Amino acid sequence: MMGLLIIGVTGGIGSGKSTVVRILQKYGADVIFADDVAKEMTEPGMPAYKEIIKHFGAGIIGEDKRIDRKKLADIVFSDSAELQVLNRLTHSIVVERIRELVDGYRNSGSKMVVVEAIVPVEHGFLDLVDSVWVVLADQSSRIERVMKRSRMTYEEAERRIKSQMSDDMYISIADQIIYNNGSLEELEEKVRGLLKDENYSLP
Ligand code: ATP
Repeated sequence: MMGLLIIGVTGGIGSGKSTVVRILQKYGADVIFADDVAKEMTEPGMPAYKEIIKHFGAGIIGEDKRIDRKKLADIVFSDSAELQVLNRLTHSIVVERIRELVDGYRNSGSKMVVVEAIVPVEHGFLDLVDSVWVVLADQSSRIERVMKRSRMTYEEAERRIKSQMSDDMYISIADQIIYNNGSLEELEEKVRGLLKDENYSLP
């Protein structure tokens, strides 16, 4: 009998990881977005909320009592030491919750679970999945995609990319590397090939 295949999909902003995840969804994956789980865990009253405010101060609380993610992003994406602190405060809490969600899908008979995460290295993410798929693309394509999608300027997109993990760091944790510099059709073909390599029977 085929067991549950758990894939971690990661990559920097604009690399195309969400696009890869959407393709996997089409082939039957249940998807967990680490960023959504992180948001959930940082809601008022949730475990990571207190920790974040203790470190970053009450100034990052918005009028609705929630953490103002824009303010927090402005801090951590212009200071990598602060980004590391944020990650340390939240990662183990998030990983624990993801583990619960994976177990839920396993118990309901899922064949494939995909966990999408931007920052995958620390505190157990790698142990959680069977295979880490890293999505990479040329910096120029990434900047172009990010600008097209959001209202970031060229400089903002470039700065965001620089503040994230380098390609070499992603490569060092990859079981599979997906270069997404071609067309969407090529991307889907590559994903299908990788699923076959994992012995996943395509519908
Ligand atoms: P983020 O971390 O910002 O969410 P991401 O890595 O998830 O980025 P996507 O959202 O998948 O990136 O892709 C960014 C944009 O680029 C999307 O609008 C997507 O449709 C487009 N895109 C991705 N791959 C390709 C491709 N091969 N050809 C053309 N457009 C693409």
